Amino acid sequence: MPELPDVEVYREVLARRLVGKAITRLRVRTPFVLRTFDPPISALAGKKVTGVRRLGKRIVFVLEDDLFLVVHLMVAGRFKWNDKPDAGIPGKLGIAAFDFTGATVILTEASMKKRASIHLVRGEDALVALAAKGLEPLQIDRATFAAVLARENHTIKRTLTDPRMFSGIGNAYSDEILHRAKVSPVKWTSRLDEQEIDRLYQATRTVLPEWTERLRKEAGDGFPEKVTAFRSEMAVHGKYGQPCPVCGSKVQRIVHAENETNYCAVCQTEGKLLADRALSRLLRDDWPRSLDDLEDFKDARMLRQPSEARLTEAAKVAKQSLANEKLPSEAASERLQSGYGSVAPSTVTKTKTTGTRTKKTKNV
Ligand SMILES: [Zn+2]
Repeated sequence: MPELPDVEVYREVLARRLVGKAITRLRVRTPFVLRTFDPPISALAGKKVTGVRRLGKRIVFVLEDDLFLVVHLMVAGRFKWNDKPDAGIPGKLGIAAFDFTGATVILTEASMKKRASIHLVRGEDALVALAAKGLEPLQIDRATFAAVLARENHTIKRTLTDPRMFSGIGNAYSDEILHRAKVSPVKWTSRLDEQEIDRLYQATRTVLPEWTERLRKEAGDGFPEKVTAFRSEMAVHGKYGQPCPVCGSKVQRIVHAENETNYCAVCQTEGKLLADRALSRLLRDDWPRSLDDLEDFKDARMLRQPSEARLTEAAKVAKQSLANEKLPSEAASERLQSGYGSVAPSTVTKTKTTGTRTKKTKNV
């Protein structure tokens, strides 16, 4: 799912292209994507974009009149750029379109679970209330970083990815940070020593900017097309069975819920293989059902208790959107979907675990 580096690059490109332009309307294909009804989306019409911000993993279009249009991409949500105004929403993947003067930003989501969300709120207070209270990992000093780690006792993997603790770090970059810091993903935060905290702090401050810079270069003057959590330059994330770039031994994994954690046993766990049932269980139990449940618990709670007014309004908006919408041309639809090819799979194949043995690798 898009994490801090991906979202930051989206933010920069969107800001470059949209600040100063006016939004003409928002179209949504499915009612649930829009999670607010007050202010109504008709309030957007003609408002200029004065800035684009990142709020954790969310993108915020800052508009005139104290309006904030907040988009959370969750796992499979992506932005697509179309130079044409009022471009059609592509059939299979498109869930919403943001119409600006002279261009359209399409929101797609390639997942059966539609979890991406749009909120329209008025005022900074309402904006702040939307986000989990995690701290920006690149804007805190070492003492604050250590204090966050000490706040609750969890596995470090869970703490790094918990949006109540840190903002913008998910499954992919936590694997990379832990590998850089040479810390085991299942180490309890209460057991981290000062050197490990130092290394984690430094790794966080180098891995995230490094990746932001890499993705920025890759996007260049274009729009980010290949937004994926699986990249060949990653050290361990998504690299199960491949050689660790530091020591050459095979990258290991722990499968839990819909995710897997990748690590190098030699670099991070003194050669101990953690891919056994007990540790899968440990990670799973230290987690809500999946990483995303941490991320969107607010949205989920809102959906479980739908207010009549919100549903009625959402359904009305969706119906109106569809009625207004032009049919997408075949070509436009194809182009939009072809740019989508490399999006990460939303689930990882589960593997059988091999009992609770703890093995030493040969390299140790
Ligand atoms: Zn290694």
